[in-house]
Amino acid sequence: MNKYFFNIYKALYTVLIGMRITFKQMFRHAVTHQYPYQRPFEKKRNVRDIPKGYRGQLFNRIEDCIGCKKCEMICPVDCIAITTQKLPKGERLWDSMNVVHLKDRSEVVGFVEGDEKVAPDTTVTIKTRDEQTLTIPSGDIDRIVERKPVIFYLDKFDIDMSLCMYCGLCTEVCPTECLIMFDDMKGIEYSTFDRMELVFPFAKPEMYKDDAAVEAEEAT
Ligand code: SF4
Ligand code: SF4
Repeated sequence: MNKYFFNIYKALYTVLIGMRITFKQMFRHAVTHQYPYQRPFEKKRNVRDIPKGYRGQLFNRIEDCIGCKKCEMICPVDCIAITTQKLPKGERLWDSMNVVHLKDRSEVVGFVEGDEKVAPDTTVTIKTRDEQTLTIPSGDIDRIVERKPVIFYLDKFDIDMSLCMYCGLCTEVCPTECLIMFDDMKGIEYSTFDRMELVFPFAKPEMYKDDAAVEAEEAT
């Protein structure tokens, strides 16, 4: 009999302990977020800095993409889809150029004059696409790569980030280094109600049109 009443007492005591914690919590700030409607963790100070070299969201600087499809072929999960049209024989969209990657992670696209190898304590002269001439100290340069002429029109260049496993292989093989992975908050988390929103299209068919065609289209 004693045990019976002791069990009732124990049950009530346990409930009261639980209710005490619940009651205390009612007067404190909520620590939960209505995710994905609220993303305050992106702004909170307790988020650590993203380390340099972190593999985040993929981005293609499509102006420098030559449509070689190396990234599509190496992707182990087929999340890159490219369709191209070959230009008529003998035609190319632009000549071979150089991409000068600076140590501050910016870059200059144009023609490097003279030797493309960077000797220490010298300067490198580059003629940009808008006909400017820039002289860059070799100490500021990380590396110089060659951007090959474009012989394909890119009709489609889609990356499905919902499939991507962030291995970075596609960026390693890209000969023009136009395919990169952001190392910032972009791509740190994805949440959407429609998976198609995670397919990022990069192709810009309009960039292949000459100025006259664009003006004619705009006039109509
Ligand atoms: S990072 Fe890896 S999985 Fe993602 S697109 Fe590139 S090759 Fe494919
Ligand atoms: S490997 Fe680079 S240049 Fe080739 S198609 Fe992919 S993004 Fe474009």
